[in-house]
Amino acid sequence: MKQVIIIGAGIGGLCTAIALKEQGFRVKVYERFEAVQDLGAGIILHPNAIRALEELGIKNAVQMVGHQLHQLGVVSQDGEVLSAISSKTLKDEVGETMWSFHRADLHALLMKMLPEGAVEMGKTFVKAEQKGEKVEVHFKDGTQVEGDVLIGADGMNSSVRKQFVPESHIRYSGYTCWRGVVQLDLGDQMDHVGMEVWGRGKRFGIIPLSGKRVYWFAMENSDPDDEVMMNYHRNDFQQSFDDFPPEVQRVISHIGEPHDIIWGDIEEVKPPKTLVFGRVALIGDAAHAMTPNLGQGGGIAIEDAVVIAKCLTDSPSVEEALDRYEAKRLTRVMQMVKRSENLGKIAQWEGRVSVAIRNWVTKKMGDSMNGPRLRKMYDVRF
Ligand SMILES: Cc1cc2nc3c(=O)[nH]c(=O)nc-3n(C[C@H](O)[C@H](O)[C@H](O)COP(=O)(O)OP(=O)(O)OC[C@H]3O[C@@H](n4cnc5c(N)ncnc54)[C@H](O)[C@@H]3O)c2cc1C
Repeated sequence: MKQVIIIGAGIGGLCTAIALKEQGFRVKVYERFEAVQDLGAGIILHPNAIRALEELGIKNAVQMVGHQLHQLGVVSQDGEVLSAISSKTLKDEVGETMWSFHRADLHALLMKMLPEGAVEMGKTFVKAEQKGEKVEVHFKDGTQVEGDVLIGADGMNSSVRKQFVPESHIRYSGYTCWRGVVQLDLGDQMDHVGMEVWGRGKRFGIIPLSGKRVYWFAMENSDPDDEVMMNYHRNDFQQSFDDFPPEVQRVISHIGEPHDIIWGDIEEVKPPKTLVFGRVALIGDAAHAMTPNLGQGGGIAIEDAVVIAKCLTDSPSVEEALDRYEAKRLTRVMQMVKRSENLGKIAQWEGRVSVAIRNWVTKKMGDSMNGPRLRKMYDVRF
């Protein structure tokens, strides 16, 4: 029975561990933090991610802590719906729908699905050495472990990636982001409707969660590491988004203390030309951190988890398994990174004329693009 070492207990690492355990592998996840961090925002999982969860055999359990979205739309600053996708269309086209989660709920559930001791906290990966058919992993505390495979699921700033692809770099998108969750009853009509309002050089998202909670996010064009931006409070959002629709004002009025606001510049990592280095593979954000414009980084990490576990199960050797994993994933993840980057650029346009044209085109294209576009994005087979 092969021993698999996974670095990072995020969505990608935990789903990979769940998949491999199910197939009878010995798996251990090592996480740098001593305890689970405060995961204070939301996440949307699109139909492809839901189908990946089904492959893992955990779809129903995960949906129990989630909230089904009946519609997700893009709205102009004037409140005009520019595009919208409904759960009915998704169900008809690809057989699954969209779900929203409080990240803490999702993470806690994934952790609970692994047996006691499968995740070791407080272990920071430092380097790996490949020795014949084994990989030796070294941690910051001076300890080492040995396995047959190493999976780097250690996120955008991945130390595993830095060791094997030292030239890879993180690129700043040009816009910054704040996120949080507020307690707010949106009313029956809006309780399953998510929206992203596109303004000029700024956006505001409202995503209902279970338990009358609302996940909100805001984005604005900015220099990186801007001190004013990183210290935004409720009244800054009130000022900056004062010409946005009333729904936005309502959510902003519920934003609490500064420590309830999570700030971060939006960045991405271009996927390296290869995701596999001998017995070492990268998955999730470690391999292909994308901007959040498609809401797909987590979903694609779950897809990676399904595929790498299948390849390791079905292939006669680790080398062949990892080669197959890379061959199956590279094109899709590159496309997602690029599409997300492009969408973000357009969504953040700020010129009056370009924004008017963008909104007109988005509305004009409307549903006509839905069929093929949706199938390409969401209709994954494993
Ligand atoms: C604003 C925003 C909104 C988003 N919205 C969505 C969305 O709606 N839907 C969606 O699907 N995706 C979304 N994403 C993307 C999604 O959050 C990520 O793609 C996803 O969390 C990646 O999971 P991961 O497991 O690969 O990495 P991470 O979640 O980053 O987990 C990596 C783990 O590795 C650990 N680690 C790091 N270094 C080490 C080390 N040296 N040793 C040991 N452990 C280490 C970290 O502590 C962490 O626990 C969004 C992202 C952002 C920024």
